[in-house]
Amino acid sequence: MHYLDHAAATPMRPEVWEAMRPYALEVFGNASGSHAVSRQAKNALEEARERTAAVLGAEPAEIVFTSGGTESDNLAVQGAVLAADDGGLVTTGIEHEAVLETAAFLESLGRDVVVVDPAADGVIRPEAVADAVSANTALVSIMLANNETGVIQPVSEVSALLRSRGVSVPIHTDAVQAFASERIDVRRLGVDLLSLSGHKIGGPKGVGLLWIRRGLRLEPVIHGGGQEMGRRAGTSNVMGAIGMSVAMELADGDRTRFRRRVAEERDSFETTLRGAAPSVEVTGRGLLRLASHSHVRVPGLDQQTALIRLDRAAVAASAGSACSSGAATTSHVLLAMGMGVSEARTALRFSFGWTTKVGEGAQAARLVSEAIRSR
Ligand code: PLP
Repeated sequence: MHYLDHAAATPMRPEVWEAMRPYALEVFGNASGSHAVSRQAKNALEEARERTAAVLGAEPAEIVFTSGGTESDNLAVQGAVLAADDGGLVTTGIEHEAVLETAAFLESLGRDVVVVDPAADGVIRPEAVADAVSANTALVSIMLANNETGVIQPVSEVSALLRSRGVSVPIHTDAVQAFASERIDVRRLGVDLLSLSGHKIGGPKGVGLLWIRRGLRLEPVIHGGGQEMGRRAGTSNVMGAIGMSVAMELADGDRTRFRRRVAEERDSFETTLRGAAPSVEVTGRGLLRLASHSHVRVPGLDQQTALIRLDRAAVAASAGSACSSGAATTSHVLLAMGMGVSEARTALRFSFGWTTKVGEGAQAARLVSEAIRSR
């Protein structure tokens, strides 16, 4: 099987599982208790917090562990907007559903939401974001890299432009897809909130984090006990937090090699595929994009049929983002880039990762070119 869907889920790195194991079997205490068994769990949780903070250039108290990227995005977007009396949101048309559906929810509550679309190349223009911000904007949310196209967004430029205009509105970035390939230092990026997810970076599913700049006020989304300094209720997922911290350290330490390796395979995949099928168009070619992603459009292709053929040929890919219902939908990202429905439905996403083998890009491309030729 050629697993080319690392953007949907990555296999867990064995070191992550080894680090998590004792916290499933031996250190089982509730981190909120007061006895020795709980203290062990609490110490592990705080160590995980320190380790994740160190990777991001953050302070441990700025890290809130969540159940994943979706919850982190919800906490950031709802939390910041609802903390402002009557504030609104400025976001983009290419965000993940975790942001866009939260935006729709806020709109249903009567909050003002402005959605900025990218240019045809898939890149959001900083001026368009800055122009959409008004006196009542409580948050700007713009992702660091798009999950479908892999195109990197000018987040620090948006931040710099807003600050140069004297606007101090908080900025959230969804860095869920970017972290494996891109080094992230939260202070350099110029944002106030940043979302990450474990299962996109060789860690476990069901855990993520939100970095919240010190002093920023957020309305909690989950109410209950006072865990995570009152910002996220619920018994702490100690095992998940440990897994998250180890996955982040491994990805951070291995990033230069990882980038080189996945870029080599991705590039040979695209060269081989375009050699065999010259009509294939690579989205974002020549732009800043993640080393791990290849998003292609094949004129006349029906993406659902192609995915079935690819599955039979033992190539795991996707049409864009993994849709929870399994239903075929047209990519909102490609529509926001100005493509028509029929063109958007010719797209396929291939994403490479830490288990991708040398030579796999070209091998997979040959299988893909056969699958798309026999349509
Ligand atoms: N944000 C982006 C950009 C994603 O790609 C994903 C997952 O596909 C998420 C958020 C959601 O993360 P999770 O699956 O951890 O809820």
